[in-house]
Amino acid sequence: MAFGVSDELLGTFVPIVVYWIYSGIYVMLGDMNDYRLHTKAEEDTKNVVSKRTVVKGVLVQQAFQIAVSLILFTFVSESSGGAIRPQPAFWVTVLQFVVAMVVMDTWQYFMHRLMHVNKFLYKHVHSKHHTLVVPYAFGALYNHPLEGLILDTIGGAISFLISGMTPRTAIFFFSFATVKTVDDHCGLWLPGNLLHILFNNNSAYHDIHHQLYGTKYNFSQPFFVAWDKILGTYMPYSLEKRKGGGFEARPIKKAH
Ligand SMILES: [Zn+2]
Ligand SMILES: [Zn+2]
Repeated sequence: MAFGVSDELLGTFVPIVVYWIYSGIYVMLGDMNDYRLHTKAEEDTKNVVSKRTVVKGVLVQQAFQIAVSLILFTFVSESSGGAIRPQPAFWVTVLQFVVAMVVMDTWQYFMHRLMHVNKFLYKHVHSKHHTLVVPYAFGALYNHPLEGLILDTIGGAISFLISGMTPRTAIFFFSFATVKTVDDHCGLWLPGNLLHILFNNNSAYHDIHHQLYGTKYNFSQPFFVAWDKILGTYMPYSLEKRKGGGFEARPIKKAH
């Protein structure tokens, strides 16, 4: 414990700071017309909510997330008698990290798909996230608080508990998941982006899901594409150069 701040507290707040720093970097990069997946004009016409509303929505969602995380962490640390768990060997930590990624992906795939299949949940909860047809970095967590609770907070808690990771590892895991989610919504195809090289689930893949034809495909998030492939909801796409600069992710199969 450094400076008397517990790892639990850091695990709650660091990912939120990471969210604004990482998406802030994308804001500072500017319009990046040569690398955009949609034109700026498309962003302005297709997205029906203002940037201001999105920032407010994300802050509300994060405030809600802080409250629930603190309650969950209080329960977890009480059940362990408040003792600080030692950090296991490095390879164990890596294994726990991978297990947590698989658990998170599994939880999010089924919950995300349910939010599309169930008309009530889509209309009243998940459609808020889909108001951004052209995604951008700081809109990544523009969600209904109930969606944030179910997908991110509960999903995070389950990943944490099943993987057996320490709260210290969780600081890194939740921060990495945050970076990944922001990147998947950045709306850019930047050369040399390590996340695009390491993961097939990336900004172009998730862009397909955000399109009006795409809401029956590419539910997988935030790490792998396995569940979409296994359950037949995988939409292959090609990345074409757009006239006038930038790229476009085009579905290869006909959407139905
Ligand atoms: Zn969706
Ligand atoms: Zn999204």
